Amino acid sequence: VFTRNCNSAECLTEKQIYAAYRDPTTFGNLKPPKEVIEAVQESVASQLYNGYAPSTGYQKAREAVAEYSSNELVKVDPKDVILCSGCSCALDLCITALAREGQNILIPRPGFSIYRTLAEGLGITVKTYNLRPELGWEIDLDDLKEQIDESTAAIVINNPSNPCGSVFSRDHVLDILDIAARYYVPIIADEIYEHMVFPGRTFHSLASLSTEVPILSCSGLTKRFLVPGWRMGWIIIHDRQNVLEAEIRKGLHCLSQRIIGSNTIVQGALPTILRKTPQKFFDDVISTLHSHSKLAYNCILKIPGLKPIMPDGAMYMMVYIDLSCFPEFNSDLEFVQRLLMEESVFCLPGQCFDYRSYMRLVITVPSDMLEEACQRIQEFCERHHYKTAESRNGFVNEIPY
Ligand SMILES: *Cc1c(COP(=O)(O)O)cnc(C)c1O
Repeated sequence: VFTRNCNSAECLTEKQIYAAYRDPTTFGNLKPPKEVIEAVQESVASQLYNGYAPSTGYQKAREAVAEYSSNELVKVDPKDVILCSGCSCALDLCITALAREGQNILIPRPGFSIYRTLAEGLGITVKTYNLRPELGWEIDLDDLKEQIDESTAAIVINNPSNPCGSVFSRDHVLDILDIAARYYVPIIADEIYEHMVFPGRTFHSLASLSTEVPILSCSGLTKRFLVPGWRMGWIIIHDRQNVLEAEIRKGLHCLSQRIIGSNTIVQGALPTILRKTPQKFFDDVISTLHSHSKLAYNCILKIPGLKPIMPDGAMYMMVYIDLSCFPEFNSDLEFVQRLLMEESVFCLPGQCFDYRSYMRLVITVPSDMLEEACQRIQEFCERHHYKTAESRNGFVNEIPY
C-alpha cells in the first residue's frame, strides 16, 4: 500500500498487493493467540498426527467442532461434521454435492467470487440475488424469491458478509429461512465470519433458527483465529428432518475422499484450539476491527464523491464511488487502478464482487497505515473530483480573496 509516487504496479511488493485481499496476517498486527500456537507445537511434537486421518477427519477433532458449534438452540453430532481443507473446500464439497450440471444455485450480489468460480467449473448455473445497501445489505427478499425456479439446487447465504461487513438481524435470518422452507430449497451457509460482529450486534446462525430447512454450514479457523494458511475448515450437516436424502450425506463423504482429508497436524491441535482459546483474544480482535472501521468510516465520510457504508462485523467496508463526480474514470476498476498508480493504495473494485461503482476496503491493516491510506484516498479524490479539477482549469470561479 504505501510507497508513494510509484507509477507502476511493479514497484509494489507482494505484501502491498495482498493488502487488498482477505488475508488478515499480511501486516503482522493481527496474530493468533499463544494457546493456538502451542496447541500446534504440541500436536507436531506428539508425532501422533503424521499419518493419514479418516477423510472426514479424526473423531476427536470432529467432536471438538461439534461442541464448538453447539449452543442452546442447536446440538451438533460429530457424525455431522466433515473437516475440510479450509472453508473454500467446504463450499466446494457442498456445491458439488447439492447441485448438478444444468441446475442452478443462487448467490448474493455483491458477493464473494469463489461461489461462482466453483459452480461454473462444474457446469452449474449461477443466479444472483441482490443485497440492499440502503438496508445494511439485507437480502432483497422479493428478488430472492423471484430467482428461485424448479432447477434451483441451493441458496448460498453469506453472513456476516464479505465484502459488505454486514450482519443479519434475527428477523432477517427468519425471513430467509421462511423462503427456503416455502420453496423447498436447501441452504449453503457460508458462516466463516461467525461471531465476528461488533459490540451491540449478535450473530444468528441459520441453523440455530430452523429445524425444518436442510442447511450445510461452512466455517473454519481461517478468519476468527487469524490462520488462513492452516487450511482448516468444516461442513456441518444440519438435517433434522432427514430431508437431504442419504445421498447428499453419502456424496459429501465420498467427495471428502478426493482430498484425502484435511491437515492432520491442525486436526490434532483442534480440540485445544477450540476449547482453550481465551475469550479475550476474540474480544481484542473485534475491538481492533471495530475501531479500524470507525476510523476509516469517519475519514471516508468527509471525502467528496465517496460514501462509506459502516460495517457491523467481518473485516471489510464497502465504499460507494459516485462516478459522476470523477469524469476521468469510466468504472470502479479504472478508479482503483489509478488510485493504486498514483497513491499506492489498493482497494478491490466492486466488479470483483459483481457490483459496480463500489470499492472494498480491508480494515485489518494497522491503524496508522489505514489512516494514511484514507488520507491518500482523500487527496486522490480531491484531485480528480470534477469540481476541484474544473476550478484548477479555470472553469469554476476562484474564491475571490
Ligand atoms: C475467506 C473466506 C472464505 C474461505 O476461506 P478459507 O481460507 O478457504 O478457509 C469463505 N468465504 C468467505 C466469504 C471468505 O471471505
